[in-house]
Amino acid sequence: MEEKTIQSNFIRNIVINDLETGKHNKIITRFPPEPNGYLHIGHAKAITLNFELADEFNGETNLRFDDTNPEKEEEEYVRSIIEDVSWLGFDWERLLYASDYFDEMYERAILLIKKGKAYVDELSSDEIREYRGTLTEPGKESPFRNRPIEESLTLFQEMKEGKHPDGSMVLRAKIDMTSPNMNMRDPVIYRIIHADHHNTGDKWCIYPMYDYAHPLEDAIEGITHSLCTLEFEDHRPLYDWVVRECEMESIPRQIEFARLNITNTVMSKRKLKVLVEEGIVDSWDDPRMPTISGLRRRGYTPEAIKNFCRAIGISKTNSVVDQQMLEHFIREDLKLKAPRTMAVLRPLKVVITNYPKDQVELLEAENNPDNPEMGVRTIPFSREIYIEQEDFMENPPKKYFRLFPGNEVRLKNAYFIKCNKVIKDEEGNVVELHCTYDPETKSGTGFTGRKVKGTIHWVEASQAIPAEIRLYEPLILDEEEQEDKDFLENINSNSLEILEGFVEPNMVDVKPQDKFQFFRHGYFNVDPKHTTKEKITFNRIVSLKSSFKL
Ligand code: ATP
Ligand code: MG
Repeated sequence: MEEKTIQSNFIRNIVINDLETGKHNKIITRFPPEPNGYLHIGHAKAITLNFELADEFNGETNLRFDDTNPEKEEEEYVRSIIEDVSWLGFDWERLLYASDYFDEMYERAILLIKKGKAYVDELSSDEIREYRGTLTEPGKESPFRNRPIEESLTLFQEMKEGKHPDGSMVLRAKIDMTSPNMNMRDPVIYRIIHADHHNTGDKWCIYPMYDYAHPLEDAIEGITHSLCTLEFEDHRPLYDWVVRECEMESIPRQIEFARLNITNTVMSKRKLKVLVEEGIVDSWDDPRMPTISGLRRRGYTPEAIKNFCRAIGISKTNSVVDQQMLEHFIREDLKLKAPRTMAVLRPLKVVITNYPKDQVELLEAENNPDNPEMGVRTIPFSREIYIEQEDFMENPPKKYFRLFPGNEVRLKNAYFIKCNKVIKDEEGNVVELHCTYDPETKSGTGFTGRKVKGTIHWVEASQAIPAEIRLYEPLILDEEEQEDKDFLENINSNSLEILEGFVEPNMVDVKPQDKFQFFRHGYFNVDPKHTTKEKITFNRIVSLKSSFKL
């Protein structure tokens, strides 16, 4: 279920004000990922914010690839980002690439040089760092800072023509080497990189820096509100400087908001990439990953993710959201949608000794007690069934109401059974139980003769479908990331458990991404990668219970 109640926030208030005062007639936002990895749930927050804000006020949102860094960017990432944004259910007005503006960015850089607002610097990158000063000390001017404009123009042209090697010179904005804001101390705006670009090939060997490129991209597209995360707050004076000094017609406004962090999760493409490259996870869409594609494969729905993003809200203070909140929203979404079924994850064979051999009867079971419209199904019952190993104890503690020798329990949707005999192997492991059933106690017949305290689930043995069932724990041990600790020291080596269980015969024709509630076990998704004609694999999305209160 999608709960689209609109929560106001400071950005929305700015937009309302800009429309009311006539500053803008229409708002245009953008989601500007760098295609250097797969999108994660943090990006979902930015996507939801940008698209829904524009949508609410009949504006537009562009999907723009911020592809100014050829060494880190790949076509595979472009494809995955397009897929993920569409899957979330958002339609962009225009799909754009920052690299399409390279010519214009170059022209604007020449304008800056001509105005005396940019110069070619031949200091090495180490020297540039040294000259920049510190937070307490002003920077020093480069000896190249006041070179003639003509000289900078010629050198910049030569940089573009490939006449100079990587790292030999850069173009810098000429602002203020004594500014208290380090970003304003003559930032580098172009560097030489002889690398193939996924979009422009070998046309360019100079590439603009983010702080120069991003404001121009926004201005070129007529973006009215450029929303980004808090770490760019200190870059805003530079953003405004670039728009102004490059004499852009349209003036975008940068507004910062707090990024999303979630407990027991790392949330940066750089770190997620390490997890993939080190083989700690199988791939970017491993169901343990906080990527959109990982969450999708785990079984999360777009509605759950968007409801989560709406609920966390937009603020100016960084905080860490409990991952249980995300789990809350998938339970909420699947409660009415996902059919119930019984699955045995760790099977123990039970023989019902007084049930006729060769008889199979069909019992009725509700598909979703919370949503009667989902109807009923039939499930087979016979002399041999599987139950869950943990639903039997030979020597139970007090208050154990499940099966033990001499005790009677209810089989969900079927009969009462009583345990009479425990069969063990040579090592003393319980391998089979012998029980008797009481035909009077059939579910749905209104039997009131006696009560039992425990209800357990089961699957009929002869028709049960073997299935692989994958259970997950958080990939990261510490709740919150520690600044001084390498996140790789914090990996949970028990984040995946693979079980061979059984599911109902009805599951024969499930399709990848079908979702179910396994009675007592939680919500499960049919894994699209591991499911074959021969074997169904389920991912546990989330268990049933949570102590989390919204
Ligand atoms: P990462 O560090 O994970 O690579 P990024 O900010 O470098 O993230 P971009 O591709 O540049 O990734 O991000 C695209 C947009 O998504 C940006 O506007 C950015 O501010 C936003 N964004 C990225 N991470 C988060 C997050 N955790 N919460 C909210 N917004 C985010
Ligand atoms: Mg980035």
